[in-house]
Amino acid sequence: MNYDANNIFAKILRGEIPCKKVYEDDYALAFHDINPQAPVHILVIPKGPYSNYEDFASSAESDELAGFQRALLKTIAAAGVSAGGYRLISNCGVNAHQEVPHYHVHILGGRDLGAMLGKAA
Ligand code: 5GP
Repeated sequence: MNYDANNIFAKILRGEIPCKKVYEDDYALAFHDINPQAPVHILVIPKGPYSNYEDFASSAESDELAGFQRALLKTIAAAGVSAGGYRLISNCGVNAHQEVPHYHVHILGGRDLGAMLGKAA
């Protein structure tokens, strides 16, 4: 799968564009979404060059896969959303309107998020 090294999250990882960091370790970086859709809206991205979930899940090494999951867990703890509940979303491809072609998981919380989706068309 082709990876665009000039995507915005690659630039954030390289420090070329600033972000409001929430958590970072060897495997992942977590930062606040620039256009939050809820009181808590954090993006968690792996440090490796993966375009989307399928690319990451099929190509990443085992330590990257586990490290990313643990980083996601630590970010959820740092965000303080466990007690109230939260939603994890990873958009993949055209139907999901994925905007940034670097795998990421959205953490949304801080209020009642309502139904998961509108009615199926
Ligand atoms: P996607 O649709 O790809 O799942 O979501 C991409 C997310 O990245 C959007 O929620 C958008 O607001 C966020 N985003 C886009 N550009 C930037 C940026 O430069 N900085 C940060 N922090 N978030 C961004």
